[in-house]
Amino acid sequence: MGAPEAFTATTEVGHFIAGRVVPSTSGRHQPVWNPATGQVARQVALASADEVNAAVAAAVAAQPAWGDTPPIRRARVLNKFLELMNQHRDTLAAMITAEHGKVFTDAQGEVTRGIDIVEFACGIPQLLKGDFTDQVSTGIDNWTLRQPLGVVAGITPFNFPCMVPCWMFPVALACGNAFILKPSERDPSPSLFMAELLKQAGLPDGVFNVVQGDKLAVDTLLNHPDVKALSFVGSTPIAQYIYETGAHHGKRVQALGGAKNHMVVMPDADIEQAVDGLIGAAYGSAGERCMAISVAVLVGDVGDKIIPKLAERAKALKIRNGMELDAEMGPIVTKQALERIEGYIETGVKEGAQLVVDGRGFKVKGHEQGFFTGGTLFDHVTPSMRIYKEEIFGPVLSCVRAKDFAEAVQLVNEHEFGNGVACYTGDGNVAREFARRIQVGMVGINVPIPVPMAWHGFGGWKKSLFGDMHAYGEEGVRFYTKQKSVMQRWASSIGKGAEFAMPTAK
Ligand code: NAD
Repeated sequence: MGAPEAFTATTEVGHFIAGRVVPSTSGRHQPVWNPATGQVARQVALASADEVNAAVAAAVAAQPAWGDTPPIRRARVLNKFLELMNQHRDTLAAMITAEHGKVFTDAQGEVTRGIDIVEFACGIPQLLKGDFTDQVSTGIDNWTLRQPLGVVAGITPFNFPCMVPCWMFPVALACGNAFILKPSERDPSPSLFMAELLKQAGLPDGVFNVVQGDKLAVDTLLNHPDVKALSFVGSTPIAQYIYETGAHHGKRVQALGGAKNHMVVMPDADIEQAVDGLIGAAYGSAGERCMAISVAVLVGDVGDKIIPKLAERAKALKIRNGMELDAEMGPIVTKQALERIEGYIETGVKEGAQLVVDGRGFKVKGHEQGFFTGGTLFDHVTPSMRIYKEEIFGPVLSCVRAKDFAEAVQLVNEHEFGNGVACYTGDGNVAREFARRIQVGMVGINVPIPVPMAWHGFGGWKKSLFGDMHAYGEEGVRFYTKQKSVMQRWASSIGKGAEFAMPTAK
């Protein structure tokens, strides 16, 4: 592959309302940084309540006709969108690298995992098929169907500016809803680009809208009576706030929160495979993945065998501008996030963890102003430490020693987060018991980042998800539709006289 083309636009990132890009009318803006250079690249609009209300009004106007459109025709629009997403995959990936910082090959992977959901949503005629029972009583049939909710909204985090919106809108649109996306203000450009592609694919104006913004935009959506459901992905305190406030206003809410994912390495595991798994899952995307591994639970004698290997590999990470094709890890998204991560490293040292590799102060030649840090490795971390309990969301791997399998499982189960977990082992029974006993929503056996595929659905347990349904897959279809049951009979089969007892099958 030749060098990818960098994304260098300097124009304002505006909203997308009723089928066109709308510049800010409120005059509120926030800088968007290129984390590799440490420079402001462009400005993103921050919506006022009036701008959000305009997007909701456009969605309300467009939804009835879209909801009435046969599912097969909605699927054809998504099929065209799928083709365009594939065609523009590298453009989207370059946008992601420019604003998030993750390496280009990882950004391509992100776009592909988003495309997977679009492919899934193209099957909507099959997914919306109802249940039918002939003759529930003499001359009476009963069937169930699923209908769209109306206008729904998605609020997304910075770490997957293409994939996480794709967890939501393809399924929501396929189900016949109109959608309002409020992307992260840190990397907003992919949202507008996807809105343009949806329009090109033939989506009627107003069915998909983007409002850029901050808490003000989110609160306006949360309080708006015409927004029937909210999907949120982000940190746990905000997820809890969205869930509680949305429910208070009578909305359907799914709110995915933060994580602290463990990988248990058993003494019978293939150690080289475990090292590869840990290095990729802890330092890939600079640890800014909700499924990143941030804790290694080293069982029995694994610790002494694996720590020197992990240290060697963490020190050798190729950290550079993500547009360089051999880069393994890029910069951190913002200077504030970098300071937070390096602050946690200081805390870990003060708490008495053993700092094996210190990534602080890492500089990349030619990018001295970029928000870079190196890979950090701690050993002898204990459950009472803040670096164990809290989500760091950076390239910091904490190793904990456990004496046996039971202690490792207990450790994971007692953690307040339950997003992802992995177990490396060569023993099928250990693997099976692990998958059954572990109190976590997504489990990998010798798979470090077990992000479920498009047709399985994504969701954690405990403080990692508020709500009943996972994102995408059939759970997504259920979330974005309401079930209706219809019971029907025709005049010739209607008996005579009123019935006062509870009707039963006759
Ligand atoms: P964040 O919670 O700061 O922001 C997420 C969204 O909420 C953004 O759109 C932001 O504008 C909005 N927001 C921020 N503060 C708000 C407030 N006070 N009121 C209303 N809205 C607000 O999260 P982030 O830093 O963008 O993303 C990283 C976090 O997301 C990590 O905690 C990570 O684990 C989590 N995450 C979870 C999953 C998952 O599937 N569970 C996936 C990706 C990321």
